[in-house]
Amino acid sequence: MVNALSVDLEDWYHICDFDNSVYLRDWEKHYAHLETNVCKVLSIFNQFNVHATFFIVGMIAKNSPELIKRIADAGHEVASHGFLHRRIFDMTQQEFEEDLLESKRYIEKAAGKKVIGYRAPEWSLKLNNIWALDILKKHGFRYDASAVPLSHLGGNHFELYPYEIKTKYGNIMEFPLSTFRCYWERIPFSGGLPMRITPYFYTISYAKKMNRKGHPVMFYLHPWEFDSNHIRVELPANRKFMHYCNLKSSSKKIMLLLERMEFSTVQDVLGLGNINNNKISESEKYYKYYDKFYFKSAFNCFLFIGSILLSIFLTAYLMRQYAFMLILILFTVFYWPWSLLLKKINSLFKRSIKTI
Ligand SMILES: [Zn+2]
Repeated sequence: MVNALSVDLEDWYHICDFDNSVYLRDWEKHYAHLETNVCKVLSIFNQFNVHATFFIVGMIAKNSPELIKRIADAGHEVASHGFLHRRIFDMTQQEFEEDLLESKRYIEKAAGKKVIGYRAPEWSLKLNNIWALDILKKHGFRYDASAVPLSHLGGNHFELYPYEIKTKYGNIMEFPLSTFRCYWERIPFSGGLPMRITPYFYTISYAKKMNRKGHPVMFYLHPWEFDSNHIRVELPANRKFMHYCNLKSSSKKIMLLLERMEFSTVQDVLGLGNINNNKISESEKYYKYYDKFYFKSAFNCFLFIGSILLSIFLTAYLMRQYAFMLILILFTVFYWPWSLLLKKINSLFKRSIKTI
């Protein structure tokens, strides 16, 4: 199963809900950061012989076409991420159309390749701005990768896996963000902040599970997540968390995944291009799945959760809150994912027998 690998090509100051006019004007001062980060990403992809889709902010294609040419010449797909990185719901239909066409024009001119894919900044496609898909189809786009099937983001009317959506101008493919179920809500795990805070063992386990069910996973990353000297600006607490939390884990996690899973561009995964068949076989990659990185990540995660539980338990004990301690013990016994743990041990046992 080949998964989609994508990069949202934006600079660190392309933050929604933030007055970035000074940075947009002085983009040249920050360009060195962007160029260095894109080169890091390209060299990692080259090291693992994978191609990705770059959803590019049109302004970057206008200001630095040589960077876009370098990406396209390396065999990657180029697609649109809007011109000024504005969310769909912050624009009228006419503004959206102009922004889209401007980005398409500059990206195609710089790359010398046709743009057929779009991702809305900050996953801003919703039911009340679904007209954006009509406009995409009208201008020759063949797929969109902006839907988030979460009730508080895109909306749970979106399907969980790639599917066709009817527009005024014919059907368009939609590749929604990959998510897993957690009680009553779904949670993303395969890029950006969600991947940075999800333990590695869980990301790869769930991605493999989706693959076994026959569904590709949408992975995504940002060049600024690879910046060891990421510029820090004053942001609201939630934005600060989104931007700066656990940045150093990005390159390590993506390299582990690239080594253990199959990836290609979004258009290849959707069957709109040609899949690069020059890949290691699935069985060979599967063998490397349970390794020291997997177990180290799982161990650290259980240690973290265990130490939180232990400190709550100790506090309750010291405060002589015995009833609370009893509730905590019962809660742990009843809600601990025993069946998940047993299933995992069982599958590990079966696998070790097979490899013998
Ligand atoms: Zn973005």
